[in-house]
Amino acid sequence: MTDSSIAFFEGKFIPLSEAKVSVQLHGFNYGTAIFEGIRGYYNPDKEEMYLFRLVDHYRRMLNNCKLIKIELPYNAQDLADLTCEMIRRNNFRRDIYIRPLAYKNACQIGTKLSPGSDYTMFAVPMDDYIATNRALKVCISSWRRVEDNSIPPRGKICGSYVNSALAATEARDNGFDEAIVLNNDGHVAEGAAMNIFMIREGKLVTTPITANILEGITRDTIAKIAKDEMGIESEARQIDRSELYMADELFFCGTGAQIAPIGSVDHRKIADGEPGEITLAIQKLYDEVVRGHKEKYLDWCTAIYKTTAVAAEANA
Ligand code: PMP
Repeated sequence: MTDSSIAFFEGKFIPLSEAKVSVQLHGFNYGTAIFEGIRGYYNPDKEEMYLFRLVDHYRRMLNNCKLIKIELPYNAQDLADLTCEMIRRNNFRRDIYIRPLAYKNACQIGTKLSPGSDYTMFAVPMDDYIATNRALKVCISSWRRVEDNSIPPRGKICGSYVNSALAATEARDNGFDEAIVLNNDGHVAEGAAMNIFMIREGKLVTTPITANILEGITRDTIAKIAKDEMGIESEARQIDRSELYMADELFFCGTGAQIAPIGSVDHRKIADGEPGEITLAIQKLYDEVVRGHKEKYLDWCTAIYKTTAVAAEANA
């Protein structure tokens, strides 16, 4: 974390080191907060930072806020604009990860969701979140996924990430790179903090949005670019555990995870155990898209420095 970076907190841009909450905060005591994860990719040739699907992340966040009755005085475009301003103030010249948080800010004992809410965000430099340059060794977690009628995984609710933390930690403690989490009915949900795709007979298959998953933005991006650029259709359907062992290729996807090839599940090799051909092609395509190299997808990439400079000049 860069010490001198600027965060947004309680309606102002302030040094990250000064952005502190009370130990009495409802969001801290009971996990009543919604978070997002957004990547910024720095393109050195264009000297530009591209924030990927920025407004889509905030649309999801505001929808998620409904789950725990958080109301913010911002719409998705306001939040996108504030984010651009924060990144411009930080003048990052490398890949970054932005962490917005909307939280219950009452300082009270008691679980009830009372009205007070606030919004904060910060950004940190980030390269890989998990390895993307080799095939990951993963396991099926002994922890089951939280359910829609317990803590809805469709929302990035801070408290429910204890479920992800348990799965991710168990996997690493047992010598694996990551975990795949099953639902209580025994079918595949997703990774600890990423969606999953399987390739069988040249087709992409992923779990449906009713399988207690987060409706991932990367998942959606992959379905679109694989179809448009590679002619590969995606299907969202229930996946059995044993189908994973027999898949031709497997990979995780997510804003943090990006496209991460999986080489084995529960010590069973996926094909030859190396990153699959289609996975590598999707990984390359995704990288080109997020870094602003593909004209067709530039609408997904919010340019920070040039556009902000033009806007600043216009306002001068
Ligand atoms: N599932 C979970 C549980 C996650 O935390 C994430 C990361 N946000 C994802 C999937 C991937 O979602 P996205 O592609 O929108 O980052």
